Amino acid sequence: MNAPTVLSLRGATKRFGGLVAVSDLDFDVTEHEVMGLIGPNGSGKSTTLNLISGALPVTSGTITLRGTPITTLPAQEIARRGVARTFQLVRLLPSMTVLDNVRAGAVFGHRRRWGHEAEAHAMRMLETVGLQRRAQAHVGELTYIDTKRVELARVLASDPKVLLLDEWLAGLNPTELEEGIALIRRLRDEGRTIILVEHVMDAIRSLCDRCVVMSSGARIAEGTPAEVLSDPEVIRAYLGD
Ligand code: ADP
Ligand code: MG
Repeated sequence: MNAPTVLSLRGATKRFGGLVAVSDLDFDVTEHEVMGLIGPNGSGKSTTLNLISGALPVTSGTITLRGTPITTLPAQEIARRGVARTFQLVRLLPSMTVLDNVRAGAVFGHRRRWGHEAEAHAMRMLETVGLQRRAQAHVGELTYIDTKRVELARVLASDPKVLLLDEWLAGLNPTELEEGIALIRRLRDEGRTIILVEHVMDAIRSLCDRCVVMSSGARIAEGTPAEVLSDPEVIRAYLGD
């Protein structure tokens, strides 16, 4: 039996004035799959995540979650239905503790948790990302990778069914990168459905079941990482960057 489709985009289009950032984009994401959304800078990947998460309204097209249209729902409602994302530039509250930042994810997410339950859940998510010892630190004192870990823990605390990671591995040194890839692999093995926007080729090769490649807002290729990364049109799109 084929795995069910979790998320579908049909003709998704986003214009910013005269610029078409996302152009008539179609793709499906299957349950438990890691789908790589790749392409050169400015090709529309982050905007696509913004459309899915409801941070930006589509200009036209439809987005469905398990067959139900979510195209026009507000971002909080889409989050409540289990779609959560990290941002390319980490967004945390630096004067709050690590635990409080993660607890905010537990309170506002897909399964709302309160009080002790939210705190215990937030601690479990900090363990998942290997940061339980820093629970009482202020986010402002953390290293870059640790702020990324906190952000991921905050997103995981909302119990997402679909996890959207926007260049979560960017800026990590080689050791941190290995740890980061292992962490995403663990999330995959737990059966999460993930859209991975990523430039790190090793991560794409080792984590993605399938990739959709974007260039100038449009889909130019789709297939396994090996297939798309050897596709002449994809190579041209990256080199032209
Ligand atoms: P990627 O994530 O693939 O690097 P983006 O989705 O961030 O690409 O951007 C796609 C295009 O849309 C770029 O040309 C970018 O400058 C433009 N863009 C993105 N967000 C906005 C915005 N809020 N207003 C105007 N233009 C935008
Ligand atoms: Mg981006």
